[in-house]
Amino acid sequence: MSQLSCLCGHVINLTASPNEQESYLISDAVFERVADEFDGPCSDTNVILDSFANTASRVVECPECRRLYISRGLQGRNLQYRVYTFEQDM
Ligand SMILES: [Zn+2]
Repeated sequence: MSQLSCLCGHVINLTASPNEQESYLISDAVFERVADEFDGPCSDTNVILDSFANTASRVVECPECRRLYISRGLQGRNLQYRVYTFEQDM
């Protein structure tokens, strides 16, 4: 994915890797599994990070309106997102 068109009209450029608009959201179970892999026999960091990226949800924040787009399912060309609007800072 190289760009995402926000509902506010802003086009979020996701070409750069890494970039400041994308984050990852992982469950506690996935976090523990990845941590175990770092402690386990697999020493290839790229393999471990690929495993992490393939199981985490991708989160994109619009820099204009602060909406969050959270991917559903695995990474791929046809990611589907749930959209969350910003309410307030606490
Ligand atoms: Zn926006």
